[in-house]
Formats: sequence, C-alpha cells, structure tokens
Amino acid sequence: MKIPFNKPYLPVTAIGYLIRSALSGTIAGNGKYTKRCHNFFEEQFGFRKVLLTTSCTDALEMASLLTTIQPGDEVILPSFTFMSNANAFLLRGAKLVFADTLEQVPTIDPAQIEKLITPATRVIVAVHYSGLACEMDEIMTIAARHNLLVVEDAAHAFEAYYKDEPLGSIGHLGTFSFHETKNITSGEGGMLSVNHTPFLSRAESIWEKGTNRAAFQRGEVDSYRWIDIGSSFLPSDALAALLYTQLRRFRQIQRRRKWIWWEYHEQLSHLEGKGYLLRPVIPEQATVNGSLFYITLKDKSTRDDLLNHLNTNGIQAVIHYFPLHSSPYFIKQHDGRQLPNTDRFSDTILRLPFYYRLKTKEIAYIVKKIGEFFKS
Ligand SMILES: *Cc1c(COP(=O)(O)O)cnc(C)c1O
Repeated sequence: MKIPFNKPYLPVTAIGYLIRSALSGTIAGNGKYTKRCHNFFEEQFGFRKVLLTTSCTDALEMASLLTTIQPGDEVILPSFTFMSNANAFLLRGAKLVFADTLEQVPTIDPAQIEKLITPATRVIVAVHYSGLACEMDEIMTIAARHNLLVVEDAAHAFEAYYKDEPLGSIGHLGTFSFHETKNITSGEGGMLSVNHTPFLSRAESIWEKGTNRAAFQRGEVDSYRWIDIGSSFLPSDALAALLYTQLRRFRQIQRRRKWIWWEYHEQLSHLEGKGYLLRPVIPEQATVNGSLFYITLKDKSTRDDLLNHLNTNGIQAVIHYFPLHSSPYFIKQHDGRQLPNTDRFSDTILRLPFYYRLKTKEIAYIVKKIGEFFKS
C-alpha cells in the first residue's frame, strides 16, 4: 500500500466554477467570487473584515506593513514555526526575538513573551499550531499592558476556536493559508482578517497596490489614486472561485477531517498507553479542527527510525519545523538563548498522512505499521 502525505481535495464542481469565473468578465482580483468568499467568512464566522491574498505569506507581509514596524523594532515570535512569520517582519527591518513553546503543546509560551518584552517590542506573533489555540487571553492581556499588536498566524486554524471565538478573530490581525496542504485550498492562497478598527481602510489600499481602488469599485470615489504604500496581494478571481467551491462544502470537509483526526487519536491510544508515543495534548480552551495529526516520540533517533520505517512501507510521514532560531540563515543573529521545548518538539514530532480522502483502512494500516516498529 502507498499512502502519500497529502492529496489535495478539489470537488469536480470546481471546474465549473473556474469556467464560470473565466466567463464572468472578472477573472482579475476582487471580482464576484472574491466577494463571495469574503462574505462567507464575515457571515459564517463573524469576521469583521477579511481580504483574500495569494498566500498566507502574503497576508503576513500585509500584516507587517499594517503594523508600521520600523527598522530596530522588535517582534516576538515562536521559533517553532514556518519561516514566513519571520520573513514578513524581517523584510521591514524588524529585529526578531524568538520565544520558546509551552512544554506540552508546540505553541508560544505566554510566560516567555513577558520576559522578552523591551521598550522596542511592537508585535507578538501567535501561531496556532495544528489548529490548537494559543493561550489568547494571556497573550492579549500582555499585549494590552505593553501596548503591543498581536498577529495570529491561523494558517492551520480554519474553523478552530478559543473559548468560542474563531481563531484569527482575536488578535489585531489574523492570517490564513489555503495552500494545498491546508483544510481548505485553492492550490496557493491565503487571507488576512482585520479585527482592529484603525486598520480597516488601510488594509484595503495595501491590498491593491496602495490605491483606493476597492472604494472606487464600490462607487464611493470617482477615480482611484495612489494613496499609500502597498503591493499586489489579491488573487485572481479564478482562484477565489476554486476556493468558493470548497467553502460551500466546508461542513462536509471539516466533518471528514475531524473524523480522521479522532480516528488516529483513538487507534493510537494503546500505543500511547504502552509509553511508545504521545498524542497531541488539547489545551482546555482549544478545539480540534482536523488540520493535521502529529505524534511525539521519545527522542530524535526513535522519531527518525520510525519515519524511515514508515517511508519504507510506503507511508509518507513527514517532519517539521526546523527551529528558526538555529536555522542556517538566522543562527548568527540569534541572541544565544536556549529554546529547549522548541528543540525537543522539532526533534520528536512526526506528522502522519492527512487528507480528506484518507481511508479508514489506510489509517488502520498506518497504525499497524507504527505498532510493528515498536514490537521489533
Ligand atoms: C502553511 C503555513 C504558512 C504559509 O502559508 P502559505 O499560504 O504557503 O504562504 C504560514 N504559517 C504556517 C503556520 C503554515 O503552516
């Protein structure tokens, strides 16, 4: 049996929507399907304002522009994350200050944030790893006390909650990904959520090359002009049409993905009971959104051997993230602090195949092969 790590799910109706979008006359950005996607997030989840982008990386760059971060300003972010969080602020000249994760969950430790704050700190980045919510009350309280902005990286966090609030709607800004490995996908794609009133209109101009074109399209101004800095962050409406086909059936997609998550959780419980591995720890205020499933092993060599064992059995498990603080690019700039939880998670996490069409018998096969590894 061969089980890939990921298989993007594109409903066949997506093709029809692509054609409709091409024929509608608005295949550039901010057309009919873009607006439908925006409405979906605003109506379904109560987001204040969202803007589709071409990736979560782009949404993070927009967030960085909106925070008006200046060279020398400091950004506190986890080291256990995707490099786009770091690049977005580095491109504006910010100084990166990496924080460790909690001991049991690979999300940023609020107690660490507090210790790293200096008069130059401006922004905190909270990454909801695997859709498990960061401790947002603590983070927002710290931010308010020190007058900082919070950006939630909700790339994994579609339809995930913290105390009934959708992730991405709690901080000043939130960023989402619709990359092919995420719950909902348009191949490449992303979204910025704008929750902070002063950012509402500026976000729209940064999105469209620093112009007020969106206001012009709504008939609010006679012509559109260059009014701010910005870039081209908006996706083609054809991609929005692809995304829309998935949003229309998000309940079905989410039901299946959550089922797969709990199926892994259930089937792996006896191996956890024997002390071979740990399943994810779900924080009290977090929810499971079926974004990805990971296990943690006792040490790096066990993890690497198990990875090998699964790969040779046709099961494409994967590892991530290499810590950013000790990455080839950043290691010389890091202040030398040890981030032990980050290193441990990076060394011991194994991600198992996870996609909409993953079959029950494939999950059973994967679990069986993991069990065999520990028996031998
Ligand atoms: C996937 C991912 C991103 C980047 O998303 P793109 O849409 O590929 O730019 C950012 N942060 C996290 C945590 C991710 O998993």
